Amino acid sequence: RIHQRYRECRDDIDTLSPCFLSVYESLKPAKEEKAKQNELLQSLQKSIDKEWPNAQLHLYGSCANTFAFSNSDIDICLAIDDSNMSRNEMLLKLAEILQSDNLQNVQALTNARVPIVKMMDPKTGIACDICINNLFAVANTKLLKDYTQIDDRLHQLAFIVKHWARSRAINETYRGTLSSYAYVLMCIHFLQLRKPAILPCLQVSKCPMHIQLGYMSSMDSRSWTSVQEMEATYVLTVDDTECAYFDQVAKLKNFGAQNKESIAELLWAFFHYWAYHHDYTSDVISVRTGSIISKQLKNWTRRVGNDRHLICIEDPFETSHDLGRIVDKHSIKILREEFERAADILQYDSNPSITLFKPYIQ
Ligand code: ATP
Ligand code: MG
Repeated sequence: RIHQRYRECRDDIDTLSPCFLSVYESLKPAKEEKAKQNELLQSLQKSIDKEWPNAQLHLYGSCANTFAFSNSDIDICLAIDDSNMSRNEMLLKLAEILQSDNLQNVQALTNARVPIVKMMDPKTGIACDICINNLFAVANTKLLKDYTQIDDRLHQLAFIVKHWARSRAINETYRGTLSSYAYVLMCIHFLQLRKPAILPCLQVSKCPMHIQLGYMSSMDSRSWTSVQEMEATYVLTVDDTECAYFDQVAKLKNFGAQNKESIAELLWAFFHYWAYHHDYTSDVISVRTGSIISKQLKNWTRRVGNDRHLICIEDPFETSHDLGRIVDKHSIKILREEFERAADILQYDSNPSITLFKPYIQ
């Protein structure tokens, strides 16, 4: 393991990038899909307006944060302020509205961890989950999307990592592995920590400015000014928590330009980090601070109820929330073996862009 930890990546690593980029291109959904989703969203909004004129529908999750594969389900949040009804009553009423609008397979799951109404639109064939007032998800969806605007390598890396996780059956929260959301946060955090950094930390009010400036030491003075002005430009208050960050990402377009690492190098380093470098006993990865923080600081050192904190990924806004808390003794072993398998494939395999995604057969 120690030997593994200090190994350098193979000499021909850059020659692997074109193959990984073509995998990436093949995963991106066609533009028409987006149009169909928007059409459905508008028609749903019309039906909702009749009953709840002040309610709004927001897309969230992968269909809105740009990390969706083809034919993904879409996640919708109904934002509504109606103090006369409980959330379950709203869900049931929503299900009624959708049913009378001829949507198919309408089901209200009021006992789920995140209660939702599920349904399918027969016109477009799109399946949807609709939740109520889950505004944290709306804010974190926008955060992920904004990070993708800064450097193309985030989109490439996260798509490939999601595809790998799906192929290897480790993107299944109900079985104790990680959500897509968690994998994307792992990618953002990884790119924040490259030297030079490929991504900044957008929640800068809580991150000392000199750290960001340090990363950018050789950029021109105009870019310096834009970074110095990175106070929160987006604020959404959810319950009592302020979700705030700098969202004028067009100004950060060149942030990662100093770093020339290719996608194959980054993939190698990503898997290598999670296989051989991450300190699972004491570290928490934190996109919010753009750094690694300690489990001790978060009080995540021991199991409380079902939360085991065997791999710790801090939610950028709900900071008491560890996205790794669902991982148990069994699934942490599977995850770490998969990280090692992936790192070894990137290191030694003659055809990594095929072998990496070989489906896991149970
Ligand atoms: P997929 O393409 O696999 O559906 P996704 O981006 O929709 O990917 P999910 O993991 O299904 O990702 O999550 C959907 C959205 O729900 C996320 O974008 C995030 O906003 C929110 N979310 C998911 N899991 C959590 C969580 N544990 N805590 C907070 N928000 C979460
Ligand atoms: Mg989803």
